[in-house]
Amino acid sequence: MPNQTHHSNRVAIIGAGFVGATFGYALVNSGLVPEIVLIDANRSRAEGEAMDLNHAVPMHHPCQIWAGNYSDCAGADVIVITAGSAQKPGETRTDLTQRNTDIFRQIIPQIARHNSDGILLIASNPVDILTYASIKLSGFSPQQVIGSGTILDTARFRYLLSQHFGVDPRSVHGYMIGEHGDSEVPVWSLANIAGMRLPAYCSANGLECKEPILAEITRQTRDAAYEIIQRKGATYYAIASGLLRIVETILRNQSTVLTVSSLLNDHFGFSDVCLSLPTIIDRGGVERVLRLEYDDKEIEGLQRSAFILKELIQMLNL
Ligand code: NAD
Repeated sequence: MPNQTHHSNRVAIIGAGFVGATFGYALVNSGLVPEIVLIDANRSRAEGEAMDLNHAVPMHHPCQIWAGNYSDCAGADVIVITAGSAQKPGETRTDLTQRNTDIFRQIIPQIARHNSDGILLIASNPVDILTYASIKLSGFSPQQVIGSGTILDTARFRYLLSQHFGVDPRSVHGYMIGEHGDSEVPVWSLANIAGMRLPAYCSANGLECKEPILAEITRQTRDAAYEIIQRKGATYYAIASGLLRIVETILRNQSTVLTVSSLLNDHFGFSDVCLSLPTIIDRGGVERVLRLEYDDKEIEGLQRSAFILKELIQMLNL
């Protein structure tokens, strides 16, 4: 384990479960950082993951990975939190919210004790609530706290659109916004391929773009996690790639527009709630939440997301 307390480009991962370990693997492969510390309540799990990841290093890029303590968060540029568990069978969303918030009440003050100027990146669910809780529990500025939000849902949406239209998903542009959860909102009014809105693209290319097809793409995007969890118990590759994309944007100061969750301040009338909107992310974290032109149905959807999230926040007494 390195002795120094400050390093440029150290990433701390809190929670070395499926998501944390897979993100660690993506980070090792990327060559983006020279130091990765894994911190988990289950110390031996973190140790085992660190050993396994270190053995991948000779095939990739120089990097030190170790199982550490909260003091190792000192000097970390980004602290990624993937601790907590997913919804258990029979458990309500409210139960999960309470349980993972209690875990965050333990974790966040320990991070804040050792690091006050890093970026907190939250992936644990319910991610919008835990992003809000992290701001309150850390005392960090809202710019320093980002939730992975609908970055994953946006990727799923673009993938499904790409399958329907037969175009590389990187050439399909569209956003899922709002809650990372059942009330998320597809922004059909702005979805485009090569700058052409979908109705124009479809009529120019003789393709189907009717309402039932779009509704099915929305459904598959929203239900993807349930479908995967039913088959393999958890989801982790795509979220790990999403976390890597956010960390890269931060460390390389790329000012990328990503659908991530952050604290809103009078966006479409919403304040004091975290949800996802297209947001510019740079070295300082949240640079700006963009104000796009949504249609009335999309704004209504956002209002629903904000309402649901505010109700959960009120229950927590933060
Ligand atoms: P997991 O059970 O495999 O891992 C969770 C880890 O957290 C475990 O290793 C556990 O020991 C650790 N942990 C629990 N309490 C802790 C504490 N107090 N301090 C430190 N570590 C603690 O779960 P997973 O599949 O990796 O999922 C983790 C979280 O990520 C869940 O909340 C899940 O819903 C969420 N998730 C989010 C997205 C997203 O898009 N945001 C996608 C997938 C999963």
